[in-house]
Amino acid sequence: MPRPALRSRSLRRVKIRTPGGLSVVHYERRKHSLPKCALCKRPLRGIGKLLPREERKGVRMPTRPYGGYLCHKCLENALKRAIRG
Ligand SMILES: [Zn+2]
Repeated sequence: MPRPALRSRSLRRVKIRTPGGLSVVHYERRKHSLPKCALCKRPLRGIGKLLPREERKGVRMPTRPYGGYLCHKCLENALKRAIRG
């Protein structure tokens, strides 16, 4: 029985054959799809928070309102619509 932290189904099980000929199970994080804009469904830029740790350095989520949820174009249109009423 693996230790409690590894029993989670949020971890993917991968069967690996070791150089010594043993068959062992490795536990990996599941891959997620790219974050997309909620309106136009295009991939979002600046997705640092959601990248694996090694690829995350120096990359940040946009700090504007709806950053990481709407793309800049959709936010611009939404704000214009809100002002016009
Ligand atoms: Zn958009």
